Amino acid sequence: MKAADLAELTTAQKKVNALRLDFPLLNKPLTFGGKPRPLVYFDNANTTQKPRQVIGALVSYYENSNANVSRAIHSLGEESTRIYEGARDRVKSFLNAAHREEIIFTRGTTDSINLVAQSFTSLLKSGDEIMVTEMEHHANLVPWQMAAQSLGLTIKVLPFTDEGVLQIEKMPDLWSDRIRLVAVTATSNVLGTVNPVAEIIRFAHERGVPVLVDGAQSVAHQKVDVQALDCDFLAFGSHKMCGPTGFGILYGKKEWLEKLPPVQGGGNMIRAVWADHFETNVLPYKFEAGTPHMDGAAGFSVALDYLESVGLDFIYRYEKLLLAYTMDKVGDLPGLHVYGVAPEKGGILSFLIDGIHAHDLAAFLDTKGIAIRAGHHCAHPLARRLGVVSTARASFYFYNTMAEVDLFSDALREAIAKLS
Ligand code: PMP
Repeated sequence: MKAADLAELTTAQKKVNALRLDFPLLNKPLTFGGKPRPLVYFDNANTTQKPRQVIGALVSYYENSNANVSRAIHSLGEESTRIYEGARDRVKSFLNAAHREEIIFTRGTTDSINLVAQSFTSLLKSGDEIMVTEMEHHANLVPWQMAAQSLGLTIKVLPFTDEGVLQIEKMPDLWSDRIRLVAVTATSNVLGTVNPVAEIIRFAHERGVPVLVDGAQSVAHQKVDVQALDCDFLAFGSHKMCGPTGFGILYGKKEWLEKLPPVQGGGNMIRAVWADHFETNVLPYKFEAGTPHMDGAAGFSVALDYLESVGLDFIYRYEKLLLAYTMDKVGDLPGLHVYGVAPEKGGILSFLIDGIHAHDLAAFLDTKGIAIRAGHHCAHPLARRLGVVSTARASFYFYNTMAEVDLFSDALREAIAKLS
């Protein structure tokens, strides 16, 4: 990496080390391989650790505000509703959405995408087409395949290069006037590639087609402004961005959400019910059947405050620098194969080392206190395209440090000596 970048990364360690103090699990004495060692948590694409501010918000919700939302007349119910609806305003401002009704609370990215896929089918008929990419997580593939199976739709797949760059130049060739929706990940959870989503959206919109963006790996790592991006739907989850598990967001443009029917029936999504029919509630409630994840909303709101105080631009830049530093440290390892070397890339390193199975490598690193993921990363078509069954994946967040990368580099060298 360039000397100026190294200096910038080195300077940033002070800020990062101060932030780390907010994360109980990063500061706990733990035992790995029979020895007390600090945790080196490089599995952030899977889920992130939580700062004490978020943990505190969850505890505080239950200690001070717990009651069911919406229909409550009593004070505590009103307080809980205030927190829950306040979280909606918080997400609206975080995304710069035009209307609070465009923010639907879900269980996570997968739930958000399934909601759109199930609802959108009401607008489709046999012979219609959905365009996805070859680097999608199963969560942004299988829901469309399920819709395709039940309705007789065709799935069109945009490929990527050996470097892991999406071949958007192939969009015109693959395009047809039967395409009804494009579903694309903003950042690949395996390759780390940051896709030119704005360009894809422009291309689809010129042809009158909406775009759903899977933001699971992007919203936590860079500033996403839904109005500037002009996406029609954006799905992401709280647990990959310092927030509680089981809570997520579906952003949808009002004009689309108004057109789409609800997919779940029950409390909150109704305006009135008779024995044989019902009237649907207004947005956003029409997509929020049942008692929601109130504590999730309370915690997520604080997670967004936390991320904005760290700075989304800082996070994006820092992870890029840390990845460059990592490549300087491990790039020359004998037998190393890196999957995904796109010029626009987030802090995700998927790799294999000749003669070592990804799972053996992950197990070995675990004895050193280093948590990485090994497997297909819920992206079978991508793995097939790469010609691998599994890869090892180290994925960073803003609280990872150069010192941790040094430990990772040493551990990989030891693994090569002992396992390959
Ligand atoms: N899309 C992408 C790109 C992901 O990385 C993930 C999580 N690995 C998902 C969707 C699904 O997220 P969740 O399991 O939190 O619903």
